[in-house]
Amino acid sequence: MTTIAFIGLGNMGSGMAANLVKAGHAVRAFDLSEAALARAVADGATAAKSVAEAVAGADAVVTMLPAGKHVRAVYEAEVFGAARSDAILIDCSTIDVGSARAVAEQAAARGLAFVDAPVSGGVAAAAGGTLTFMVGGPAEAFARAEPILARMGKAVIHAGAAGSGQAAKICNNMLLGASMVATAETFVLAQKLGLDPQTFFDIASKASGQCWSMTSYCPVPGPVPTAPSNRDYEGGFAAALMLKDLKLALEAASGVDASVPMGAQAEALYQAFGNLGGAGKDFSAIIKLLDGSWRA
Ligand code: NAD
Repeated sequence: MTTIAFIGLGNMGSGMAANLVKAGHAVRAFDLSEAALARAVADGATAAKSVAEAVAGADAVVTMLPAGKHVRAVYEAEVFGAARSDAILIDCSTIDVGSARAVAEQAAARGLAFVDAPVSGGVAAAAGGTLTFMVGGPAEAFARAEPILARMGKAVIHAGAAGSGQAAKICNNMLLGASMVATAETFVLAQKLGLDPQTFFDIASKASGQCWSMTSYCPVPGPVPTAPSNRDYEGGFAAALMLKDLKLALEAASGVDASVPMGAQAEALYQAFGNLGGAGKDFSAIIKLLDGSWRA
């Protein structure tokens, strides 16, 4: 039986750890939050008293933490010192590319195998084991991480060298954020020009304006019944998390002198929406900022 240390059992990590338990792994959990730890134990994991206790002797380590500073601190202060020399280290958090590469370099310097493996898919996908993992790191490390990640997701894709998983994640989400803003402003214009939203949807979804933000996640209620727009923009992918990913994308773009005007525009709009009290709403609620109907 493979023993897996799981650090960070929040909204995402709790479901992921539960799926590793269901797959027959021995999961040793640690989280700073006692409530999160208790939930993991209820799902079949064993509670550890510290990161180092969870990691010591484990075959694999999975981390699912808020941001780069947490990931750096946890690996530098505890994981590296406690991990078995043949353990596979997997960070599934969404963090800045620089931090992901820095942790990978430190792991390599110690002869440890590490991959960055951020996810696409939200809390429901984490609980249902249907996440998509995009993985950065050496091919041998990817080969070792893949069977573990496959227990938590429907797709596991090797994106390239260290940091490439994070690069793929923020590029994808920058495209998603910009395309959602474009879709939302287009539906506002269409309506102001007298077009019925369903009729415009039927046309644009079969024409060259077609995109995922419209056909799978339409910001106007009606055309896509499963979209958060039909439940007052509750659930789904919070505008605050979209803003986090857009900020990571802009930071990465500035580091490599890439021009990303649409990503920057989307970041400014999600920042304004958050400032006006929209952070907790699904990110498609940006349409309410654009049509002037937003009230916190
Ligand atoms: P969360 O805040 O619910 O969970 C993070 C957990 O990490 C918390 O339980 C916290 O107590 C714990 N933690 C923080 N510092 C720690 C430390 N030093 N040691 C141990 N535990 C520590 O966040 P989440 O929604 O589960 O997201 C986790 C990551 O996944 C983030 O990087 C996020 O951007 C990414 N992500 C989230 C979603 C989503 O829909 N929620 C989707 C895709 C990716």
